Amino acid sequence: MTRTGSCLCGSVTLSADALPRLQACHCSMCRKWVGGPFMAVPCTGAVFEGPVKRYQSSDGFERGFCSECGSSLFFHPKGSDLHGIPLGLFDDQSELPFKAEFFIEQKPACYSFSNETRKMTGEEFETKFRSG
Ligand SMILES: [Zn+2]
Ligand SMILES: [Zn+2]
Repeated sequence: MTRTGSCLCGSVTLSADALPRLQACHCSMCRKWVGGPFMAVPCTGAVFEGPVKRYQSSDGFERGFCSECGSSLFFHPKGSDLHGIPLGLFDDQSELPFKAEFFIEQKPACYSFSNETRKMTGEEFETKFRSG
C-alpha cells in the first residue's frame, strides 16, 4: 500500500510502498538518532523530495534526515530497495500492526512494550538483514 508523509517542517515529502507492519529498534544508534526506540515501517519504492541529507551511520547502512528541521527520515541498507521509515512521518498510521523488536539486548531497562512482538537480538538482526 502506497503511503505518503512528510517531515516536521514539511520541506521533505515522501511516498513509499509500506509493508503492513511496524517494528522497533532499541539499538544505541537508533536511540541516539530519534531519542528513543526507532518505530519503523519497512518500505520499498520510497521516494523523497526536498532537502534530504544522507549520513552513513555504519558500514553498509545510511540514514537520512531533513536538513531544515532535522526530522529523521529513513534507515537504509545501501544497495537495497528497503527503507525503514519512522511511523510518525506518515499521514495515515492505521493498519500497521506492531510485529517485531530488534536489538532487544540493548533496550534500556526503564521501558518495555506490552505488545506481543517477535524479539530479536542484534546478532539475529544482522544475520537476517545484512547481505554478503
Ligand atoms: Zn523538515
Ligand atoms: Zn537500531
